[in-house]
Amino acid sequence: MTQKRVGVIGYPIEHSISPAMHNAAFKALGMDDWLYDKIAIPPDVLKLGLRELRDHGYIGVNVTIPHKQAAMALVKPDEIAQAVGAVNTIDFRTSVGTNTDVQGFMEDLAAHGIDDLADRKALIIGAGGAARAAVYGLAKAGARIVVINRDSEKAEKMLRDLGVMPAIAPDWEYAAQWLFAMRGKTPLIVNCTPVGMYPRGGDCPWPDEAWFPHDMIVYDMIYRPAKTRLMWKAENTYGKAYNGLGMLVRQGAAAFKLWTGVEPPIDVMMQAAQEAVEQLV
Ligand code: NAP
Repeated sequence: MTQKRVGVIGYPIEHSISPAMHNAAFKALGMDDWLYDKIAIPPDVLKLGLRELRDHGYIGVNVTIPHKQAAMALVKPDEIAQAVGAVNTIDFRTSVGTNTDVQGFMEDLAAHGIDDLADRKALIIGAGGAARAAVYGLAKAGARIVVINRDSEKAEKMLRDLGVMPAIAPDWEYAAQWLFAMRGKTPLIVNCTPVGMYPRGGDCPWPDEAWFPHDMIVYDMIYRPAKTRLMWKAENTYGKAYNGLGMLVRQGAAAFKLWTGVEPPIDVMMQAAQEAVEQLV
């Protein structure tokens, strides 16, 4: 039996929960010839590392911090990867790099019943790779987008690059007023920064001294802790909140489908990811 290998590259990579969810999916489907592992590749040898993996017969890899942008120059980025400016999945058989974060995010919103996005207000916090994925997906779905980022020029550039009308909130008061005024569908707030992530779970991107409007939906891309302070804020003001574990699972599931051609067992992957996160020290 020839082993079919896939994996995730990053640096560091010890804490990745991707192997747990992919290997659980292989096991559940009886795909005993498939194996997903994690490979630490330092940034200065990324090109060499990717070539080695391809030459050793790897079918594809997921790409995580800090390689997502650098990998763009080493593969053929598809339309989504080009728009987002980052690659998170590579198929060595075609050398194509894509970004499944967009699909992961949009499918997880839909799984939470947030699928009617046309004209829905969406405040994006952040302007990095994850924010680009969120803006790309939400803009395509017709949402009305405003971005807040500590570096507003970077936010403007992101919107320009993505062909979205520039709309930057200069401060939190402005952001709150915009979300609150003339509401149609319940507005969405998407945290695309690492603020509030373990081990700094006490932090919150939305400052405590600023007014937080009631009845919002918060989607926090962080999943460790399972409930961030931003999520608490939403729930304590009659709103709803979801963490980013489902996005992580669904972006992984999209890569799984791409490499194997097999429909991924989302529930199995979700359960394995949940258990793997709980086991992290
Ligand atoms: P990134 O490209 O480095 O961008 C980080 C963004 O956060 C930037 O806009 C940065 O602001 C902002 N930021 C960082 N530290 C900050 C601070 N202390 N105060 C205010 N803003 C701060 O990272 P990324 O790849 O977009 O990832 C962002 C987060 O999303 C991470 O927590 C990551 O784990 C998570 N994520 C989750 C998933 C998932 O599947 N759930 C997928 C992708 C990413 P500046 O622009 O001003 O530097």
